[in-house]
Amino acid sequence: MATYIVLLGGPGAGKGTQAKMLAQELGIPQVSTGDLFREHLSGNTELGKLAKGYMDRGELVPDQVTVDMVRERFDRPDCANGALLDGFPRTVGQAQGLAELLEEKGAELAVVPYINADSEVLLRRLAGRWTCRQCGAMYHAIFGPSRKAGVCDQCGGELYQREDDTPETQRRRMEVYSEQTAPLIEWYWSKGLLVEIDGEQTIEQVRDELLAAVRDRLSAGLERSVAG
Ligand code: ADP
Ligand code: ADP
Ligand code: ZN
Repeated sequence: MATYIVLLGGPGAGKGTQAKMLAQELGIPQVSTGDLFREHLSGNTELGKLAKGYMDRGELVPDQVTVDMVRERFDRPDCANGALLDGFPRTVGQAQGLAELLEEKGAELAVVPYINADSEVLLRRLAGRWTCRQCGAMYHAIFGPSRKAGVCDQCGGELYQREDDTPETQRRRMEVYSEQTAPLIEWYWSKGLLVEIDGEQTIEQVRDELLAAVRDRLSAGLERSVAG
């Protein structure tokens, strides 16, 4: 059975940071719609041009476009055993789109970890976020700096601050999150899929709690399918 997991959490909660580690542990690819849009942006594709305006404003790219992009991503061979979704779905419409995509595959979501952190904490994290241009590794100016300023510990690549990490866009992303994405917490909770993780711990503590919760759910699911 393929394993599909959705990571929920506000902007800056640590989804990207945790998704990289968790995906590696589970042997499934991390599928980040933010990263996919940024790839289109740097490749200057039609989709990239369309997405840019929304991203610069901190608004969401329309659902249909986003779901179609995820459908395409799922068709790549590395997704044969499932995927760890980071930053998708972000609206109820996208969650419905995802449910349809999975149904076509005869698959379903295993668990939806929700990394919870206060909005003050989120804003502090976004303000200090640095990303490696080459490998995508994430750093924080205060909470997790690289050993050498501006240089990635893992690959030596150049670190940069995202163009959409300006104070104004950050505020807008937070608003958009509470209006359009936060309802998904309730949505997945009502389906019995939500597991809340305390996101205000250190990166290592969040990782341990997350991994334990996911392993727990996956083995419970396995027992059910063996018993059934
Ligand atoms: P963050 O890490 O700050 O939460 P992301 O990298 O996930 O931000 O996303 C950056 C931008 O890309 C968003 O502000 C939005 O414009 C666009 N985007 C990413 N994922 C989605 C999505 N699922 N639906 C619509 N827009 C998205
Ligand atoms: P998201 O993908 O949810 O927007 P990121 O993974 O990009 O969040 O993390 C945002 C910033 O916060 C990054 O600079 C990252 O290094 C930092 N960060 C992530 N998790 C933690 C944590 N538990 N404690 C402190 N800083 C963190
Ligand atoms: Zn790097």
